[in-house]
Amino acid sequence: MSVSAPRHVRVLIIGSGPAGYTAGVYASRAMLNPVLVQGIEPGGQLTTTTEVENWPGDTEVQGPDLMVRMEAHARAMGCEIVSDIITSLDLSSRPFTATADSGAVYKADAVILATGARAKWLGLPSEQKFRGFGVSACATCDGFFYRGQEIVVVGGGNTAVEEALFLTNFASKVTLVHRREELRAEKILQERLLKHPKITPLWFHEIDEVIGAADPLGVEGVRVRDVRTGAITEIPAKGVFVAIGHAPASELVKDQLELHNGGYVKVKAGSTETSIPGVFAAGDLTDHKYRQAVTSAGMGCMAALDAEHWLAAQEALAPAMA
Ligand SMILES: Cc1cc2nc3c(=O)[nH]c(=O)nc-3n(C[C@H](O)[C@H](O)[C@H](O)COP(=O)(O)OP(=O)(O)OC[C@H]3O[C@@H](n4cnc5c(N)ncnc54)[C@H](O)[C@@H]3O)c2cc1C
Repeated sequence: MSVSAPRHVRVLIIGSGPAGYTAGVYASRAMLNPVLVQGIEPGGQLTTTTEVENWPGDTEVQGPDLMVRMEAHARAMGCEIVSDIITSLDLSSRPFTATADSGAVYKADAVILATGARAKWLGLPSEQKFRGFGVSACATCDGFFYRGQEIVVVGGGNTAVEEALFLTNFASKVTLVHRREELRAEKILQERLLKHPKITPLWFHEIDEVIGAADPLGVEGVRVRDVRTGAITEIPAKGVFVAIGHAPASELVKDQLELHNGGYVKVKAGSTETSIPGVFAAGDLTDHKYRQAVTSAGMGCMAALDAEHWLAAQEALAPAMA
């Protein structure tokens, strides 16, 4: 890697999911000449799915197609899009310094962080094989596809219990598979779950394999193992929802910005301002609750508008400070 001469930019956007591209559209239209660095997954999480049925304006759209359109939209508005990964970010002085994998160095007056999050998976090859074809990590996104079907939810925390309860709106039966006999979820959620007629908890079990058909690719059930005896049984299911947590991509800033809920970047209520003025955060990186494309896009818009207002205020102050 050769290190280049630093390049000055007014707004650097890090990440190319719905939050990053929407920030790119708004920052371009505010004449801020933004540069957006895409990262290892251009287009973000939606490129790993098939049908999306809750993006307003599209009754159904393929996730990868939607992200190609968002990228084209940001480019058409004037956003410069760079295929690179930011490997370090120094927020200790302004302008902020971002170094990329290629060796490029950016000196940015304002930074919009839109690096997203990752669902945690069990790590089974069969889980990987059926992802998007019966295996999901998002009940809000995919629950609707399993109307009248049997579903398995894996996990024991708040997310797993909330997802199991939500999925009862669609499923004929929900089996909650958990390795222990006790849930980590809040008591009130546990009570709701335990008295729900459609939910059956399966304690002391873990998923051994997801099983299904190859043509067409689709889940037919799970093989579960009793962690006490090793005994294997099968549960029929058309959908398997893995709800064992999410990991926000906050490595670049984890020692520099205030975080919450296990690593999400903290923003001021109703804003995208982080604990450092001039650094804004949007999308799943900040949000352990909603985690949707449309909410991420909304926050991307807010971040660009917040950056615009902040830069204007800085520039108004500058002559007075000179
Ligand atoms: C399988 C699946 C199906 C889903 N289905 C739906 C659905 O139907 N409807 C819905 O609304 N939501 C759905 N979601 C959730 C939705 O995808 C996310 O809420 C949304 O993508 C979050 O957008 P984001 O912009 O915050 O981040 P992400 O989409 O997570 O994008 C993060 C971006 O940051 C980049 N990045 C990370 N680190 C760096 C770095 N160091 N340098 C540069 N770039 C970096 C990555 O390359 C990526 O481009 C689904 C998610 C998954 C996984």
